[in-house]
Amino acid sequence: MDLELLNRTLSEIGEPHYRNRQVWAWLARGADSYGAMSDLPAALRARLAEQVPLSTLVLEREERARDGTVKALLRTAERHAVESVLMRYVDGRRSLCISSQSGCPLTCTFCATGRMRFAHNLTRDEIVDQALHFRRMGPVDHAVFMGMGEPMLNLDAVLSACELLPALGITSRRTAISTVGWIPGIERLTASGVPVRLALSLHAPEDALRSELMPVNERYPLDDVLAACRAHWAATRRRVFIEYVMLAGVNDRYEQALALARLLSPREAFKVNLIPYNPTDSPYEGSSRQAIAAFRSVIEGMGVRVTVRLTRGRDIAAACGQLAATRARA
Ligand code: SF4
Repeated sequence: MDLELLNRTLSEIGEPHYRNRQVWAWLARGADSYGAMSDLPAALRARLAEQVPLSTLVLEREERARDGTVKALLRTAERHAVESVLMRYVDGRRSLCISSQSGCPLTCTFCATGRMRFAHNLTRDEIVDQALHFRRMGPVDHAVFMGMGEPMLNLDAVLSACELLPALGITSRRTAISTVGWIPGIERLTASGVPVRLALSLHAPEDALRSELMPVNERYPLDDVLAACRAHWAATRRRVFIEYVMLAGVNDRYEQALALARLLSPREAFKVNLIPYNPTDSPYEGSSRQAIAAFRSVIEGMGVRVTVRLTRGRDIAAACGQLAATRARA
């Protein structure tokens, strides 16, 4: 919801200040209409329904996977595409993958969003409305900024959104901001003191390959990015997640596992998440289950904490940018 518009409208009508808190509390609890906001006078509900849309985003398309994953293609008022995903896990977690930009100015070669044109930095309200969209389907408790876009390029809006997410049930400690290694953003996040988790998309243990997969590495090379992550850990004592997408024959070899483990020092500062690749229209194939298990055991054997991300939504093109890309081709 456009919270400024709500505030403005309420004050134009002459309503007391606490009305905006009431409306927000209903939204954060998953209300899907003004009609549900039973402690607001009926006339006010009708007026707000006319003047303040419940969301800044409109749902264009939704896909539901067999494993309970739901992916939404939403549109801003200017018709920019925004993709968000709800992942349901058997342990009860309800985790959201949220976008920070429509499209992305960076051009990672394995990423469907990277092949779209950059359109727009999402506003705080457009970010929060993604979470509210899924909150209307039930409780949510985790969020990762790992959808479309590089969150560090829109950090003010992302951090403002993070201030609102706890009202929905998503605490800062259960929120992760993922970056390709945009150092000024990492430094600002560290200085901000906001207790969210930092995740680094690493994907290759040496500069040449990393630059091939992620051209941003030319600007911010691996050693410098890891130094910024170590400084983040030293300042916050919150372990940095290292995201590593497993690409068959590209970054999943034994020597690369050794090289990755050697980079991650001190050990307690990092935790590796190995991510099975959701194939997109890219030249890459995902590593086999056996290759991922072998890679994992090498890293683990060197004392690094590591998990393999559960695959979600394979049958609905759940990787970021895939839905908008297929829509564009349709
Ligand atoms: S991986 Fe992230 S930063 Fe890279 S192109 Fe895709 S959305 Fe942008």
